[in-house]
Amino acid sequence: MEIRTTRSEQPRSDADLAAILAKPGFGVHFTDHMFTVEWTPEAGWHEARITPYAPLSLDPATAVLHYAQETFEGMKAYRHDDGSIWTFRPEENAQRMVRSSRRLAFPVLDPDDFVQAVDALVTVDQRWVPDADGEKTLYVRPFMIATEAFLGVRPSQHVTFMVIASPAGAYFKGGVKPVTLWLTEEYTRAGRGGMGAAKTGGNYASSLVAQQEATRHGCDQVVFLDAQQGRYVEELGGMNMYFVLADGRIVTPETGTILEGITRSAIIELAGKMGHQVEERKISIDEWREGVAGGQITEVFACGTAAVVTPVGRLLWDGGEAPSPTGEEGGPLTMRIRRELVDIQLGRAEDGFGWMHRVV
Ligand SMILES: *Cc1c(COP(=O)(O)O)cnc(C)c1O
Repeated sequence: MEIRTTRSEQPRSDADLAAILAKPGFGVHFTDHMFTVEWTPEAGWHEARITPYAPLSLDPATAVLHYAQETFEGMKAYRHDDGSIWTFRPEENAQRMVRSSRRLAFPVLDPDDFVQAVDALVTVDQRWVPDADGEKTLYVRPFMIATEAFLGVRPSQHVTFMVIASPAGAYFKGGVKPVTLWLTEEYTRAGRGGMGAAKTGGNYASSLVAQQEATRHGCDQVVFLDAQQGRYVEELGGMNMYFVLADGRIVTPETGTILEGITRSAIIELAGKMGHQVEERKISIDEWREGVAGGQITEVFACGTAAVVTPVGRLLWDGGEAPSPTGEEGGPLTMRIRRELVDIQLGRAEDGFGWMHRVV
C-alpha cells in the first residue's frame, strides 16, 4: 500500500507535548496526525494517506451514524529503554479486524495493510510515544466506519478505515488493586448468532446501562452472563476473565459469544509455558461463587490491552456478595502473569514467543 504523507504545520510544541506526556490520562489527547484509507466497490481500497489530525466532515445521513456499521481495534505502542518503539502482536489485531469486518458486512482490509498503517502513523508521531516509566504507552485506535450518505439499510458502499493514537497513562494509578464486579442479571452482552465476537461499537453501546448499574452499586465494572441460560460467565464490558484453581489449573470462558482477546490468548500460551493446564470451557456463576467460598478458586482476574491484567476482588449481585479470594491484593499467579506480560511488552524480559513487532 502506498501512503502519501502530509505533515502537520502546527505540531504540538515540545513544551505542550511534555506536559501531556507527564499526565496523559486516557483518550483525551490525540497525536498530530491520522491515517485514512477509503473503499468503494469500484476503486477498492484507495488514497491511503497520513494527514494532520482534524475533525471529519460528515453528511448527516452518513450510514454509521444511523445503523452503527463500524468496527474498531485497540492496541498499544511501547517505548523500550533503548528508545526503540514496538507493538504487541499487531497481526492478531489485523486478523481480528478481518473477522469483525466480515460480521459487520464490511470489505476486508488486507492484514499487511493494517499493520503498515499502524506502523506508519506511529512512526510519524513517534515523539508521542512516552517513556515507559509507570507503564505509559501510546494507545492506537484503528477503526472502520460506513461513510456512505444513504439511509437505506444495506452494507455501505463507501467505507473509511482510519488510525488515530492517544498517549495513555498507567491504568492503575496507586498500584494494582483488585476491582469489584457487579453481576448483572438484567442485561446481556451478546446472544447466539449476535455480534459478541466482533469488536464493534454496538456491543459497547449495549453495555453502558449495565455499567451504570454497576457504578450505582459501588462496583468498578460489570460482568455479563450468557444470554440463553443466564448461567455461564462471559466477560466484562471490555475485558476477558480468568479463574485460577487450587490445583494450579486455569480456566477461561470458551469463545463464541465473547470477544477473542489478544491478551487472553497470550495468557493461554504464557500460563501453559509456566506449567499450568489451561482450560477453555464454560464456567458457571455457581462454580465461581461456590469455588471462592470453598477454596477451589484461589484467584480471579480479568485481562485486556488497557489494563493488561487486573485482579478481581469482590463480586456483588442483587441480594448477595462473594468475598475477594485474595483480599486487598492481587493473587500471586495473577501478579506474576501480569509482570511477565508487561516485562515482555516493555522489553524488560526476553520475548520467547515472537510477540513483539518493532516499529522504530
Ligand atoms: C477489546 C476487548 C477485549 C480485550 O481484548 P484485547 O485484545 O486483549 O485487548 C475484551 N472484551 C471486549 C468486549 C473487548 O472489546
